[in-house]
Amino acid sequence: MPDQNNSVIKPSGNPFDSMMSRFDMAARLLNLDDQLYNVLKTPVKQVIVALPVTMDNGQIQVFEGYRVIHNNQLGPAKGGIRYSMDVHLDEVKALAAWMTWKCAVSNIPFGGGKGGIKCDPRSMSKGELERLTRQYVRALSEVFGPEKDIPAPDMGTGPQEMAWFMDQYSKLVGYSSPAVVTGKPLVLGGSKGRVEATGRGVMVSARSAMLKMGLNPFKCTCAVQGFGNVGSISAKLLEQQGLKVLAISDVTGGYYNENGINISEAIAYRDSNGGTLAGFPNTTSITNEELLTLDVDVLVPAAMEDQITASNAAQIKAKLIVEGANGPTSADADDILHNKGIVVVPDILANAGGVTVSYFEWVQNRLGYYWTEERVNRRADRNMKEAFENVYNTAQQHNVSLRIAAYIVAIDKVANTTRLRGGF
Ligand code: NAD
Repeated sequence: MPDQNNSVIKPSGNPFDSMMSRFDMAARLLNLDDQLYNVLKTPVKQVIVALPVTMDNGQIQVFEGYRVIHNNQLGPAKGGIRYSMDVHLDEVKALAAWMTWKCAVSNIPFGGGKGGIKCDPRSMSKGELERLTRQYVRALSEVFGPEKDIPAPDMGTGPQEMAWFMDQYSKLVGYSSPAVVTGKPLVLGGSKGRVEATGRGVMVSARSAMLKMGLNPFKCTCAVQGFGNVGSISAKLLEQQGLKVLAISDVTGGYYNENGINISEAIAYRDSNGGTLAGFPNTTSITNEELLTLDVDVLVPAAMEDQITASNAAQIKAKLIVEGANGPTSADADDILHNKGIVVVPDILANAGGVTVSYFEWVQNRLGYYWTEERVNRRADRNMKEAFENVYNTAQQHNVSLRIAAYIVAIDKVANTTRLRGGF
């Protein structure tokens, strides 16, 4: 059991500690006993593998691959694979745990997992990335499986990597196994609506929160940090809901227009500009840091971890923060935002649209029957709304933030399942 006298969240740059401090707070409110606390906090499996790959210059380079299964009480582990130089075990452990809580909070029968390879995908050729992906599947073939652990894309990976993954796994088992991985291209058994699913869930949870707060979307402004899959689609769908998007950003910086940015134009510009917003016209340049403290109603951090911290939380002016990214708010900023009355729809709820449609993809692969986009969206929207209501009611009941309420819902569910399954 966490220290009962310690109600203060400790500041931390370590994503696993950041996850654990929220976990501890929810565990205290649930009176979780010591033994279950230890079971739930400890990842079930942590694997690090060496991945020797022949590079285009003929040299063999050894990469490090990770896969962590945090928990598999609710079902097979589910979680993306990240290709980045920043990948390290604590990050993968935190992301795996967030997947456990995300699936539990959204009522998806999956546990939590995450993987990654320490590499710089932008500096590698397509052939090198294919060989690296196939090595990763071979090295971890015992871990993966449609009933065991089902990866998906994350930062630095996309449908092409998932296609190689599916093909390599199928070759190893001797038959076509689309359900081993989600986020595949449509022709290989991907689901309609998957590409937009996370951004769509961000929009649906933003709308649900705005309804509770009495905010009229047609009178609201918004800023979105990150303009990749999650950020650009969230921005587009929020704009369609009537919000004026005053600022967007990516790794090249922030772009501001007080009259609003046309998001379709921004997406078209990015796609014709090597994937970044660099030089986006009719906007003023701002920094990513400045974007976070703009005078807007709704803020969507959709880039990376630890963007809102104790050092800038007090300057945030938005009334509502909807976390598209995983872990964009560090634990030491939670109280500052809560005390300012800022409503935060936490990552494990707000960005669960992606894993929801990943689950639908797995269901369709196993059925061998494919749904229309309209059916996928309708079911995903319903799931997001129900999850939001459940978390909102829990927050009212315990008088806590939506974040702690989401952890309470998730931990309670996994703890109850673990008690019922027993077997210790
Ligand atoms: P992406 O690679 O498509 O886009 C990332 C965006 O962030 C890009 O615009 C990039 O330029 C920008 N960025 C990178 N580093 C930055 C920095 N230092 N400052 C500002 N911007 C920076 O990734 P994505 O899939 O959109 O994922 C974004 C976040 O959402 C991640 O935290 C990811 O784990 C999370 N997430 C993604 C999904 C999904 O379905 N893609 C689902 C749930 C959560």
